[in-house]
This record gives sequence, structure tokens and C-alpha cells, in this order.
Amino acid sequence: MGMHLLCIVNGRETKKATHLAREKVAKLINCKPKEIYFTSCGSESDNLAIKGVCYKNKQKGNHIITTKIEHPAVLHTCQTLEKQGVEVTYLNVDSNGCISIYELENAIKQNTILISIMTANNEIGTIQPIKEIGKIAKKHNILFHTDSVQAIGNIKIDVEEMNIDLLSMSAHKFYGPKGVGALYVKEGIEFEKLQDGGHQERDKRAGTENVAGIVGLGEAIELAYKNFDNYNEKLKSLRDYYISQIEEKIPNVKLNGDRTNRLPGNANISFEGVNSEELLFKLDEKGICASGGSACSTGNPSPSHVLMALGVSSKMAKGALRVTFGLENTKEDVDYLIENLIQIVSDLRK
Ligand SMILES: *Cc1c(COP(=O)(O)O)cnc(C)c1O
Repeated sequence: MGMHLLCIVNGRETKKATHLAREKVAKLINCKPKEIYFTSCGSESDNLAIKGVCYKNKQKGNHIITTKIEHPAVLHTCQTLEKQGVEVTYLNVDSNGCISIYELENAIKQNTILISIMTANNEIGTIQPIKEIGKIAKKHNILFHTDSVQAIGNIKIDVEEMNIDLLSMSAHKFYGPKGVGALYVKEGIEFEKLQDGGHQERDKRAGTENVAGIVGLGEAIELAYKNFDNYNEKLKSLRDYYISQIEEKIPNVKLNGDRTNRLPGNANISFEGVNSEELLFKLDEKGICASGGSACSTGNPSPSHVLMALGVSSKMAKGALRVTFGLENTKEDVDYLIENLIQIVSDLRK
């Protein structure tokens, strides 16, 4: 790939490389290449999708539906829109982090223009019933956006079959480069651009394209789905082994999120009487990298909004440890992690 990038020196080559990447993304989520807009990250894709649709549809209505457990890129976007007069319903989730289809349908009003519900949660890994949500949105003629930043590479997505109108992704979450994302918008759906300037990305995203990043995103998504089944099975078995061992060997722990309906590499467990900041520090000393309540709120002492929405007590939320297993992890790595956790948790509880 390095050689390939060095060869991109003129406009025609760049155009070709960008187009190829667009085709790869389109093929893997089952849409048309012209329905893909490259952005700088997942956050930008979320902003563009939600604000873009709201600003365009002001005449039609000003109510949107989302959930209490979205990533800040969606939650804070909705809060900004609320300040601008948009009405937002934040759906509850059950103790596993799943929304209720019944509550969703009940929240729909005459002026609802958009439903934005994440495909899979970044903290607890819970996967939402996307196909059912798509059906409801279609039935009521409401647009459906999903933040698939955690899902791409981990779950098979078919935007047509799932009735998804807009979808956000970010390359660095599927082993691609940082600083590049994409937004799928179904053909015919109008949305307002957020940035003024040139006519890049069919006049929807002004600014010179990050060609190297876009090429990297295309390669990464292709690789992520090439070995999908093997990769998925491997991660699931590491995850389930880790969870069962921790539950067996350490008392007073609680798995956060759905046991099976979750991202293959995600394990989020609360350790009673332990502070996750201290736990992370001790793990780091052993060369183990994990996260607390949420990576995005590191240094922020308030418990995770996701765990709070699940009804986890703030005491248990403060002891939450999120482990994400990746392609290169082995069973030996997991054993090393378990061994260290047993020791560290016992020390911290003293
Ligand atoms: C990481 C993440 C984002 C933000 O993506 P960036 O590319 O870091 O801006 C949005 N939503 C979810 C669910 C994420 O995990």
C-alpha cells in the first residue's frame, strides 16, 4: 500500500484512487458509490447526518428520536440542536442496554423527522435491533440514521435490507488510519452541508479530500470483511472465555451489557469496591491497555452515562473495566490479563 500511495501524484490518479475506495465501501454495506461521502472522522459523519437532515427538514418537522446511550458525537449534536429549538426524545434502554421497539414506536409524533440510533454501543458492546428499527422508520416515513462506528468490521451491514437511510463510520475503528470517516446517505435524501467552500464530495463536504486516508479506509474495510467469519469467531471465543473466567474466579463482579448480543471483542465488567482509574493504572504497569467507563471521559470523575442509563449503581459504574479484544490477541494474552486482574482486584479491595 505504501508504494501505491507514492504513485498518487496527479489529479487523475487521485480521483481514481478515491473512486476505488468509494466502490469498496459501497460494496461492503450494499449501497451505490455515489451514496458515500468521505469525511474527517466518525464525529463529523454524525454531525453531518443529524444536523444536515434537521436543517433541511425544518418545514416538515422538528422532532428527532435518539437514545440515552449514544456516543457524545450524537448526544452533543442533539443537545446543540435542542438549543436551536429542535425537540429531542432520548429513549431509555433496558438493563442490557437494548432499546424497546414499542417505546420507539410510541415516541413517534406527527413532526418526527429523524430516528438516530447507534448500531452497537462503544462502552458495553450491546447491538440494537437495527432491522426492526429500520422497519418502523420506513412504516412511518421517517429517516433513519445509525452510528455504525463500532459496528463496521464487527457486524455485517446491509443498508438496503436494514432500511438504513444514513450511516456513519470511522476508519480507525476498523484498523484503518485516523482522521478519515464516511457517511452513507441514501440517494434522494436531501441534507444540508455544514461546511462552506469548494464543491468536493458532490458539494456536501467542502475541503480537499484526505486521499491517503480515504485509500486507507477503503483497504481497511475490505480487509475487515475478507476474514470476517474467522475473525468474528476468534474474538467471540476470547471474549466469552474472559468473561466466564472472571465470573468464576473473582467474586462480586457484574457483566455490563447483553451477554450474547454484543460486539465480538467487547467485555465490560464492573468490579465492586474497585476504582477503575486505579485498576487501569495497575494494568498499565503490566503492559495491559484497557478502558474505564468510557475512553471519551477519561479524567472525568462522573460515572458513564451509558452505565447510568442501564441502571447500574454509581458504585458499580465506578468499577467498570472495558476490555476490547483485537485481531492480534491470543488466549495467552487473555490468561495473562485474567491472572493480573485476580491479583490487582484482590489488592485494591484490601
Ligand atoms: C469512536 C466513535 C465515534 C467517533 O468517531 P471518531 O472518528 O473518533 O470521531 C462515534 N461513535 C461511536 C459509537 C464511536 O465509537
